[in-house]
Amino acid sequence: MIPFIDLAAQQARLRPRIDAAIARVLAHGAYVMGPEVRELESRLAAFCGAKLALSCANGTDALALPLMAWGVGAGDAVFCPSFTFAATPEVAPWTGAEPVFVDIRPDTYTMDPDHLEEAIEAIQAEGRLAPKVVIAVDLFGQPADYHRISQICRRHGLKLIADSAQGFGCTLDGQHPIRWADVVTTSFFPAKPLGCYGDGGAVLTDDADLWERMDSLRIHGKAVPSDGLVNGHDPKYLNARVGINSRLDTIQAAILLEKLSVFEDEIARRQPIASHYAEGLHDVCLQTPIVISGGRSTWAQYVVEHRSRDGLAEHLKTRGIPTAVYYPVPMHRQRPYAGFAQGPGGLPVSDAKSQTVIALPMHAYLDPEVQDEIIEGVREFNG
Ligand SMILES: *Cc1c(COP(=O)(O)O)cnc(C)c1O
Repeated sequence: MIPFIDLAAQQARLRPRIDAAIARVLAHGAYVMGPEVRELESRLAAFCGAKLALSCANGTDALALPLMAWGVGAGDAVFCPSFTFAATPEVAPWTGAEPVFVDIRPDTYTMDPDHLEEAIEAIQAEGRLAPKVVIAVDLFGQPADYHRISQICRRHGLKLIADSAQGFGCTLDGQHPIRWADVVTTSFFPAKPLGCYGDGGAVLTDDADLWERMDSLRIHGKAVPSDGLVNGHDPKYLNARVGINSRLDTIQAAILLEKLSVFEDEIARRQPIASHYAEGLHDVCLQTPIVISGGRSTWAQYVVEHRSRDGLAEHLKTRGIPTAVYYPVPMHRQRPYAGFAQGPGGLPVSDAKSQTVIALPMHAYLDPEVQDEIIEGVREFNG
């Protein structure tokens, strides 16, 4: 069986360094908020051109922390795509706010800026919810249309989060999404382009006040200097707000430091793999990936469209080739989310794409012979 994502190949490359990094943590024993956590935060910030990074327990908390820090809550609208992983809309109701679903562009699958603007105007006209935040998603690894989305956010006074769980490391015109977004979030779930060996996440921002409030929130609302409560007591036991417990384990930070050192190389390796797929498949698929002009994808997923997607999956399975469907049911069609608002006209593109998308094996260590076998497998299917 061909692996869908070959974590073992990456581990073989890094194993001695990861073993040594874990051994150092076992030796110093600072398992929570140890020195590797701070080091990783500064390396992550440097990697994507942000002033600051804050690590946390997972990529979902990374989305929730800025919402909490901005005081988003009941009566507020958070605009996001429906064609995404559940974590993107999930954090809005956590705070008491509501997600408002926006359609995607048919070429890139990322948030449609025109529909975003229509949705904001419709919500304003209706008057029940106050528009507060937009969460754009760097779906399958490529940057959303930040030129236009950030303009729309500025025009309407909204905060912008880039959910870069799949796209961490992607660029648009050579710049990372933090160039346009107030906050960029990522996930270190093992299968993400930059993954650890468990759960983890991070928030990037240029806003030092926001960073400090999120630092408080991730540790039970501990007092931070700007709270003016620090008076000689351990700030851990002085609580300035109701927070959560969302820290990245030191061992995971140590593993990520090693993985981060080869991450740029891995992103570079994925580019010719994606091009080779496109050359081999464009004439037998409804669509092969289209990256926004000026964009560089991290290729978290290689997603094509096929008119008999399920038949193709069955066929490839008989040849030992795994596939996956991201996403078979868009969020606005799922029971917990079906009652929330949608932009005008509903989400026809999200609905249509969910019927035809199929992801093929993709990772930085996919070798050319295996890739040709996958391409051959798709080509021989005449569904
Ligand atoms: C994986 C993912 C997340 C959440 O990450 P977790 O670390 O699993 O909580 C958020 N948004 C998107 C788009 C994702 O793919």
